[in-house]
This record gives sequence, C-alpha cells and structure tokens, in this order.
Amino acid sequence: MMTQNNWLEKMNLDHPLVIAGPCSAETEEQVLKIAHDLAKTDATVFRAGVWKPRTRPGNFEGIGALALPWLQKVKEQTGLLTAVEVANANHVKLALEHDIDILWIGARTTVNPFAVQEIADALQNTDKIVLVKNPINPDLELWIGAIERIQKANIKNVGAIHRGFSTYQKTKYRNNPNWQIAIDFKNRLPEVPLINDPSHICGNRENILDVSQMALDLQFDGLMIETHHDPDNAWSDAKQQITPVRLNEITDLLKVRKSSFEKENSLKKLEVLRDEINEIDASLIQLLANRMAISQKIGIEKKAQNVAILQPERWNELLQERIEKGDKIGLAKGFMEKIYKAIHQESIKIQESVISGK
Ligand code: PEP
Ligand code: MN
Repeated sequence: MMTQNNWLEKMNLDHPLVIAGPCSAETEEQVLKIAHDLAKTDATVFRAGVWKPRTRPGNFEGIGALALPWLQKVKEQTGLLTAVEVANANHVKLALEHDIDILWIGARTTVNPFAVQEIADALQNTDKIVLVKNPINPDLELWIGAIERIQKANIKNVGAIHRGFSTYQKTKYRNNPNWQIAIDFKNRLPEVPLINDPSHICGNRENILDVSQMALDLQFDGLMIETHHDPDNAWSDAKQQITPVRLNEITDLLKVRKSSFEKENSLKKLEVLRDEINEIDASLIQLLANRMAISQKIGIEKKAQNVAILQPERWNELLQERIEKGDKIGLAKGFMEKIYKAIHQESIKIQESVISGK
C-alpha cells in the first residue's frame, strides 16, 4: 500500500507514478518532442540523463549542462516534473540552479559511499525529491545505507528505484530483478516509496510489460520507463526504449490490484520463487557450458601431450572433494555423486571427440 503523507501521496495520483523520458537528452528538439508526446500519457515526471555513466569510454557520455535549460522548457511547456541523474556535487549544483524537481542517484554511484555522501552534502536540506537506485551489486545494506546518508542530510522527500542487479552469467534480463531484494527493501523501509525501472532490468522492449506488472503486483509505487520518439535511433540504450504510444498501451494493460487476498499473495510468492529458480537455472546452464568449454581445452592439451583422458587419481579426489563440499551445505551425498558422475561422463565424451578428431 502507498505510504501516507510522503511526497508521492501528496501528488494525489489515482494510479502508480509514471516517470518516463529518454535514456539521454540528445537535442532540444528530441527532448521537447518526447515531452509533448508524454504529456498526453499517464506520465507525471519527465526523465532524461544529462551526464551518462557508460561502462566503457568512447560511447556517448551525455550532453551535459547544456541540456538543463531544455528540461526547464519541458516544465514550462508541458507541466511535467523533471528528473536527472546526479553523480557528484557539481551535477547537484547545476541541477538545482536549473530547478530540476527530482534528482536520482544512479546504480553505479550508489555503490560508492564517498560519492553518495558528497551528493548528500551538496543536497543538504533540499526539499527536492531524491531517488536512490539500487547498487549494481545485490547488496541491500549498501542500498539502505545510501538512503540513510540522504535522509541524514535532512532530506525528507526520498524514494528508491529498483533497476535490477549485475551478474556475469547471461540471463534473459540485462540486470537480474532479484525480486526478493526489493521485497526485503519494502519490509525494511516501508515509508520510502519504491519505484521499479523495468527498462534497465529488461534491456529490451519485449519484457517491459511483464516486469512492470510483476512490480505492481508486488505493490511497487511507480514505474520509471525509458521512452523515446525514435527508439531505434536513440544515442544510448536504443534496444530498451519504447515510444510514448507503447507506453500508453502498457499503462492501459497494467492491472493495479488493490486487494491483497491471501490466495493472490501466495500465488505471487510462488511466482517470485519461480523467477528465482529460473535465474538460478540460467546460471547453472551457463556454468555447465563454461565447464565443458574448459574440458575441451584440457582435451586439446591432452591430445598435444599424448596423455590419457581418464586420470583416475585426479577424478577420484575431485569426486570426494565435491561430495564433501556439498554435504557441508546440506546437499545429499548420493545426489552430488550422481550429478558429478554425469558431468564427468560428458567431459570424457567431449575430450574423446577432441582426441579422435571427430
Ligand atoms: C539510467 O537510468 O539511464 C541509468 C543510467 O540507469 P542505471 O543507473 O540504473 O544503470
Ligand atoms: Mn538508460
């Protein structure tokens, strides 16, 4: 349920909050075109990245402060509130000078307590809304710690954005939702509005509706969805942005469920657990493939050195070590033995085909 008397409650919306807008501000025309299109949707807030945290150098790193007056025009012309990402004290200063309404801390910044503290100090006593994205690593305490730093700077209008978590394994998501962390967040800080960012969770357009519905079913208070009039030609995150028309369709299709019947609740719990199983299985499958690829490399080495495939001593040691390791964390010995024998057999098969050249 929505919390009482916070900044979101005061907006008096009859639906979950929608924050929409492009990943990046690109040109004044692009910003204003998208904003005018969004003014006809459920969106209340216009988002646009001005300083973009890119994983590797050489990509578009944002227009910078030049775009801030464009956002002022958005507010004047459409009445939408404006939101940008800030990552240091200078960003905060510039955003405040341009009367930006909402400042959000990005996932790569939340991981760094020095950076969060610098931002909190620069924002001290502000009545602006400050949203804190989850850190890229699945660490609830780090997320809560960042929120506490903001709250300690006497900032009352605080919220959180769940945008998923990085993993090395490929899954169907760009960032794993790890819904349980969001559920735990809600339990720990029930007074802090929680917004879901399906765009950065999905990394594609196709799953935005399902992830948004899941978020609403878990009683999130709003959605932040990257929206662009020409997504394919966006300068960043082209694959995941949707058009304002599609945003409208999605908000029409979303079901906001107010009641929390026992049955529905337990179905949701099951869905969260199944989602976790799906993610773990995706990791397991990827890990098995990684392991087999290494077996193959070993096969190549054995062939070069003319060494036999089966090394009974190494195999026996490995098997016993794995069985014990599993046993220590509650996995049945017989189960571990079966799994490892199956893996080993497959490794041998792969090495055999390397050596025989088939
Ligand atoms: C963004 O919202 O454009 C962004 C960079 O997101 P995140 O910090 O979640 O990666
Ligand atoms: Mn983005």
